[in-house]
Amino acid sequence: MSDDQTGGCLCGACRYRVSGRVEFTIRCYCRDCQKVSGGGHLPQLAVRAADFSPSGPVAIHRATSDAGSDLEFAFCGSCGSPLFKVTSKRPDLVFVMAGSLDDARDFEVQHEVYEAARQPWDK
Ligand SMILES: [Zn+2]
Ligand SMILES: [Zn+2]
Repeated sequence: MSDDQTGGCLCGACRYRVSGRVEFTIRCYCRDCQKVSGGGHLPQLAVRAADFSPSGPVAIHRATSDAGSDLEFAFCGSCGSPLFKVTSKRPDLVFVMAGSLDDARDFEVQHEVYEAARQPWDK
C-alpha cells in the first residue's frame, strides 16, 4: 500500500489522513468486530497513532475487552460509520477500518485473528 492514506465515513462529515506507513494489517473475527461491522469480520490496518489525524464529528464508544484492555471504538457521530479503534494494549497504534479508506483496493490481509470466534457462514 502507498504511504499516504485518506478515508472517511459514509456521509463525508468525518475524514482522516494517515501520513506514515502501515505497520501491519489484520482481519479480525472477534465478536466486537462482528458487532461493529454488522458482518462476520472486520479488516483493519494498524498505523502509528502519531501518523493519524481524524477530523469531523467523531463519536467514541468505550468498552473493555475480554482480556481487560480499554477499547475506544470511533464512529461518525452523524452517519454512524465505523472508522477506527484504539486499545490500551497498544496505545501507540490506531486500527483503521479498511473499508473506510478512500482507495481500499490495495489493502491486503497479513494476519487473521480471533478465528475461534469466526461464524460458520463467514466464508
Ligand atoms: Zn458520516
Ligand atoms: Zn476484533
